[in-house]
Amino acid sequence: MNLFLGIDIGGSSFKYGIGDSKRGLQHFAIKRFTEKSLEAFQLVMREILDESQQWDIQGIGIGSPGTISQPGGKILGTNPNLPFFSDISPAELVPQGVTLPIYVENDANLMTLAESTLRPGKLCIGLTVGSGIGCGIVYHDQIFHGAHGYAAELGHSIVYPAGDACNCGQQGCVEAYSSVDGIRRRLQRKNSPYAGMALPNLIALRNRIPELDIILREGEDALIRALANLCVVMDPDYLILGGGAMDLYIYDVNRMQIQIQHLLPEAHANSIKCEIASYGNRAGVMGGIILCERNHYRNETCIQKDN
Ligand SMILES: [Zn+2]
Repeated sequence: MNLFLGIDIGGSSFKYGIGDSKRGLQHFAIKRFTEKSLEAFQLVMREILDESQQWDIQGIGIGSPGTISQPGGKILGTNPNLPFFSDISPAELVPQGVTLPIYVENDANLMTLAESTLRPGKLCIGLTVGSGIGCGIVYHDQIFHGAHGYAAELGHSIVYPAGDACNCGQQGCVEAYSSVDGIRRRLQRKNSPYAGMALPNLIALRNRIPELDIILREGEDALIRALANLCVVMDPDYLILGGGAMDLYIYDVNRMQIQIQHLLPEAHANSIKCEIASYGNRAGVMGGIILCERNHYRNETCIQKDN
């Protein structure tokens, strides 16, 4: 039996797992990092590879934030939430001497790929809500990359012209309102005492603190507006919401579906279904495994370390 290693690089941790598409995850774990640097990332990757030696893995699928060139697997342009992690392939984190095939993809694309296997043949748009906002589009089981790899960057679509500054350099992006980092920056600008509070506590307090409820509701509304616009263009079957903050129910998926439907033409509205990611916070890891497995059996081009 062939097993694969999926790794999901996030804003504060690496999630990883061993498995395949039929039997699912045989192992899953999270390694948190406190220092955001290339050296810290290389160290975490080495620990994961060391641990994985107890399984006979056939390849590594890595998901990362940022726009990733296809083919090539290099992170293009700025990577707003991990600024040091740009103009590099995530495959370069893998230690010298590892000869396994390595495949890399945008993390939200992998989350959507994993979820799409549970909804075969459907047009799926996946959203990850965490430090940033990730988005992926999968149709007929294929990730849509656009002409240059920049497709599905919903987090940087502008919902409020001249609105709050975004990490990407623009103003009024969804990410500036709806991501966890965006919410924190908005609270900081208001000198809120809650700006540094852990997200679970912040969400739990919203019913008692109107200031928090307003900011979180504005984040949800920005996402609703962007998703409704995307639905008008793409006509998807499913909008699938995942990521660490959705695991904490930062946004109400049922309210989102109703509000998105209100913004769509009547005939179109009822065809959209909004769902929580079935794989939860493991979707990105599962997507890495599925990507790897598919390429293993197709024997497609991979990034082979030249050592
Ligand atoms: Zn932006």
